Amino acid sequence: MRTLTLPQPRSFTFLHGLLLCGLGLWAGTTRANDPASEKPLEKLEILNKKKLISAGTADVSTTSAASPKEVGKQVREALGSSVAPNKKLTLVVSDKEPAGHGTAPSHSAAPTPPQSSRAYIQARAAALTGHAAVTAQAGASNGHGDEVHWTYEGENGPQTWGRLKPEFNLCAIGKRQSPINIEEGNTLLGPAEPIQFNYTPSNATVVNNGHTIQVDVQGDNAITVRGSSYRLVQFHFHSPSEEQVEYKRFAMVAHLVHKNDEGQLAVVAVLLEQGTANPLIDKVWTYMPLDANDRVRMPRDMLNMNELLPADQRYYQFMGSLTTPPCSEGVLWMVLKQPVQLSKSQFRLFTQLYPSNARPVQPLNGRPVREAQ
Ligand SMILES: [Zn+2]
Repeated sequence: MRTLTLPQPRSFTFLHGLLLCGLGLWAGTTRANDPASEKPLEKLEILNKKKLISAGTADVSTTSAASPKEVGKQVREALGSSVAPNKKLTLVVSDKEPAGHGTAPSHSAAPTPPQSSRAYIQARAAALTGHAAVTAQAGASNGHGDEVHWTYEGENGPQTWGRLKPEFNLCAIGKRQSPINIEEGNTLLGPAEPIQFNYTPSNATVVNNGHTIQVDVQGDNAITVRGSSYRLVQFHFHSPSEEQVEYKRFAMVAHLVHKNDEGQLAVVAVLLEQGTANPLIDKVWTYMPLDANDRVRMPRDMLNMNELLPADQRYYQFMGSLTTPPCSEGVLWMVLKQPVQLSKSQFRLFTQLYPSNARPVQPLNGRPVREAQ
């Protein structure tokens, strides 16, 4: 246990002091999970009190006063070589345990990480420094234009998203929100056009955006459905799956976000269950940045989305929304019925960074759900 000191930062004067002090604790920028909300969301949040940061065996707690510079130095020392000297670092100081630390993930499939392994400590450090387990105080109320953070738990969790910013209003009052639970006895069963997948080996960049691991995709990848061609923009992951089928969640889900020329979104959800290793996830995880707001380019043409698709491509179809703020509606959802597999270690690596990043299911409000026979 390392002990360091931190003044009680009730005012943003102190926050500004921290920011200007050349700490190396930087405000970062990130993107929301879905492309319609590509704008800076993450900033340095400094709240206060007991728990500063804990990374495996390296714990740092606050007790009394010290300069911000010392805080930064000691955090870096505590994290050891897992943080490069000039790496962006999002410092989260809160009353609560950081997200995923000391609390069981909401799904029972999450493994107990090997506490002693260096990889675990590094991953944990990234999760703690990147995970936005924060409150809105520093941003919303200081009048200095700081962004409000949204999270998957705590006081800025999904139940409050609609109140965090006017632009997030639909999260609270929207009537066609995602994700949903799909009840097979309640679907419109009949013929449905197949989704035409036209995916080719592509360049891609793996981004840790503080909410998930996202892969920004370049190149020629599109689906054709309902007479329109939608280009693949990015895909990202949630654990557990946001979608439920008969109230069952899967270990994870990949959301493949496509956009057509009119700017309409079509998301293909690929459900993931534990089993054998997935070749595409293997490549993505290899280049996964552990730090929030960091990005790593994959080698040329390495990404082949066909490696993620199940053999049976029948799907459920419904209209819904982005599952992250601003929860914009008008999104065409297609959830592939057949899950694909990922290995236990692939699952574990993601959940060490993001133990639980799924929005709860939303009311159907009478929306029809089509199910291909
Ligand atoms: Zn998503």
